[in-house]
Amino acid sequence: MRKKIVAGNWKMNLAVNEGEKLVKSILDRLPKLKENRQVVIAPPFTHLIQTYYQTESIAYLNLGAQNCYSEASGAYTGEVSAAMLSSVGVNYVILGHSERREYFNETNAMLTKKVNRALENNLEVIFCCGEPLEIRTNDTQNEYVSKQIQEGIFQLTAEQFKSISIAYEPIWAIGTGRTATTEQAQLMHAHIRSVIADKYGVDTANKVSILYGGSCKPNNAAELFACADVDGGLIGGAALKADEFLAIINAMMHS
Ligand code: PEP
Repeated sequence: MRKKIVAGNWKMNLAVNEGEKLVKSILDRLPKLKENRQVVIAPPFTHLIQTYYQTESIAYLNLGAQNCYSEASGAYTGEVSAAMLSSVGVNYVILGHSERREYFNETNAMLTKKVNRALENNLEVIFCCGEPLEIRTNDTQNEYVSKQIQEGIFQLTAEQFKSISIAYEPIWAIGTGRTATTEQAQLMHAHIRSVIADKYGVDTANKVSILYGGSCKPNNAAELFACADVDGGLIGGAALKADEFLAIINAMMHS
């Protein structure tokens, strides 16, 4: 059975003491999860060590980072390497988020390098893809997302691909309160799985967790997670509120 994952992306929010309080409120009511159910908390870099100490004893609660650099080390002022993340107990890294693609000009070629560095350092990658509104309006989202995946992660061997989860995040749904319908999400997730099957075979494709992201909230998580090819969610805004994040975790737990 493939893993179901709820990952909280805090983006650039909360001071360290606020993050500490949020993690504490989550821990106070976090349900016990089975082995194939995982939660990831991805705070800003500055919060990682604190969050590591708060969560290290819970096997199904993972520490994630929101980015890493494409080079191993050296004169890259302001950047953080995959090895550094590993050294503070990070085990997941989100790569290719649409905000990084848009505001920091991350290309698929750059992301290929970042993914390689992450895997060299034993990090699990949550690789983000998703189309802007005009692509959805033209009904060319399948081609658009296929290209992001093919150019971003198809350099990997089938063995390496075991460390990849995909997050499908239609850009028009991120932070907008407008969610993809269950039908739109299921169709795209099935498409992504078929693209992976064409390259790596059905067995590998069936093992990849494909998360949905984009205004996933307590009131829509259960129906999204009930879709056959939706294996959890990448959560932005709702990950900053313990009650909402816990409700989404509960939806994943019962999916
Ligand atoms: C995200 O940024 O990954 C995201 C899904 O944000 P939100 O849940 O706020 O739409």
